[in-house]
Amino acid sequence: MKVKVMKEKCLGCGMCVGINSDVFSFDDDGLAKADSDKINDENKDQVEEAKNSCPVGAIEEEN
Ligand code: SF4
Repeated sequence: MKVKVMKEKCLGCGMCVGINSDVFSFDDDGLAKADSDKINDENKDQVEEAKNSCPVGAIEEEN
């Protein structure tokens, strides 16, 4: 599983970072970024939750 944050949509609300701060973190611009290399079997459900919880749908799954 790979995800990316669509910066043009992100509000910087911090919801995804609050759900999993290994995969999601704030970039220098105050918006979220995702590090797909940190996704593993243990946190993939949280990544899915973050994707579904983002209020503006800024987290998209990549192939
Ligand atoms: S939950 Fe969505 S809007 Fe909020 S910081 Fe994460 S990507 Fe941005």
